[in-house]
Amino acid sequence: MSEEARLREAICRTGRSLYDRGLTFGSTGNISQRLPDGGWLMTPTNASLGALDPARLSRLDAEGEWLSGDKPTKETFLHIAMYRERSDAAAVVHLHSTHSVAVSCLDGIDPEDVLPPITAYYVMRVGRLPLVPYFPPGDQDLAKAVGKLAGKHHAVLLANHGPVVAGTSLEAALYATEELEETAKLFLLLRGAAVRALTQEQVAELRKRFG
Ligand SMILES: [Zn+2]
Repeated sequence: MSEEARLREAICRTGRSLYDRGLTFGSTGNISQRLPDGGWLMTPTNASLGALDPARLSRLDAEGEWLSGDKPTKETFLHIAMYRERSDAAAVVHLHSTHSVAVSCLDGIDPEDVLPPITAYYVMRVGRLPLVPYFPPGDQDLAKAVGKLAGKHHAVLLANHGPVVAGTSLEAALYATEELEETAKLFLLLRGAAVRALTQEQVAELRKRFG
């Protein structure tokens, strides 16, 4: 099997897994993967992540132009904005997963770091999570706002919309997205309770050890 064929299979398997666990619904959410020639594979517009066909994934060239397969997701620009600022990014996952979206709608959250460091794995896999201001879907200013933060953050949360997460592999992007969603769920479960989050020293120690 060629490298591209293997990556196509991996995207479809990931989409199915996200769908089966209720992390995506309808035709929301999209996944992309950088290819060795500098182009990308992207999930198509109006496609359920639960029923992707490896042969019909959208193929883009290094400029982000659609080459073949079904028409790419309308949110392609979010992915490209991440890749442009992160040369180490190999894959990007974007979801409208319920708990992350719920947190993105809360009034009074810190836009520079939305979730507190509740667990070590959140600090290691997600780190600091900035909030991108709300823009309507498809607005090019949304891409600009994501691009501004992407150089320093591999994960961002779009206000009233959902997370966009880059990884050095599809697996890394997937695991970070799942960690973010579960931490958003914990955060909501713990609202109103007296929470003992990790201390600044504990967070600094994790960053030193696991970068
Ligand atoms: Zn979206």
